[in-house]
Amino acid sequence: MVRTERVTPKMARITVGGPGLAGFENAGGDTALMLYLYPPGTELPEDFTIEKARVGFATLRPHMRSYTVRRHDADKGEIDFDFVMHAHDGHLATASSWAEQASIGDEMVFVGPSPAHSLNPDADWHLLIGDETALPAISVMLEELPADAVAHAFIEVADPAEQQELVVDCQAAIHWVHRSAGGSLATALAAADFPPGTVDVWAAGEKGAMMDVRAQLVDVRGLDRRTVRPHTYWRA
Ligand SMILES: Cc1cc2nc3c(=O)[nH]c(=O)nc-3n(C[C@H](O)[C@H](O)[C@H](O)COP(=O)(O)OP(=O)(O)OC[C@H]3O[C@@H](n4cnc5c(N)ncnc54)[C@H](O)[C@@H]3O)c2cc1C
Repeated sequence: MVRTERVTPKMARITVGGPGLAGFENAGGDTALMLYLYPPGTELPEDFTIEKARVGFATLRPHMRSYTVRRHDADKGEIDFDFVMHAHDGHLATASSWAEQASIGDEMVFVGPSPAHSLNPDADWHLLIGDETALPAISVMLEELPADAVAHAFIEVADPAEQQELVVDCQAAIHWVHRSAGGSLATALAAADFPPGTVDVWAAGEKGAMMDVRAQLVDVRGLDRRTVRPHTYWRA
């Protein structure tokens, strides 16, 4: 790890770099990696590989969690990951705790990248939906959309302090939904005016919330169910 910063009170950005990233190819969009999170401070052998990690599971089993590539700088050989810091009964969950404790020089092992969703260039507009775990992917997709693209993003966060400045070239309307005000993605979508034309939908977040989103878009709005396939990023 080369750097860490707080993007918002509950979002930690971890930047990794080094020769291990040489040749890494990022597909952009919602590309994610499966991180192998060893206890902070664990010293891994120099020539450590995924194969060796797997052989070593019996004695040293990392926590495995999926995280989106928020930014890949091929020139500098760096990747940013944005970790939502969430807690239960006052204790940070595993990955959040790892991100909180990680310090410069700690190593991260990952598997991937995953295939990325291709935004449909023929759609009249793009509908991006998710909670804060999907915010890294939504941010990347908004950055990638060309200036003539139209996008509506519905992003649920804990409260206004968790909103981020998003860099967009396209014609984007960002609808922030705050749990602190009782908001949810499905109710925000129910109240929204959609532009006419064909829509390209991408959605990700908590499983139950994604089922509600799908029900709203397919059963109420009448969107084609084959085009509305939300991703489960976590389960409550
Ligand atoms: C393809 C993909 C990409 C993802 N990208 C990101 C990303 O870029 N950034 C990111 O922060 N997350 C991302 N996630 C979600 C992340 O992998 C999960 O939230 C993961 O469970 C967090 O691990 P943990 O150890 O902190 O919590 P866990 O040990 O997995 O869970 C502990 C408890 O916390 C609850 N929980 C898990 N996640 C959350 C949450 N976000 N908020 C509140 N409660 C939660 C669980 O229900 C459980 O009760 C992604 C998931 C997928 C599948």
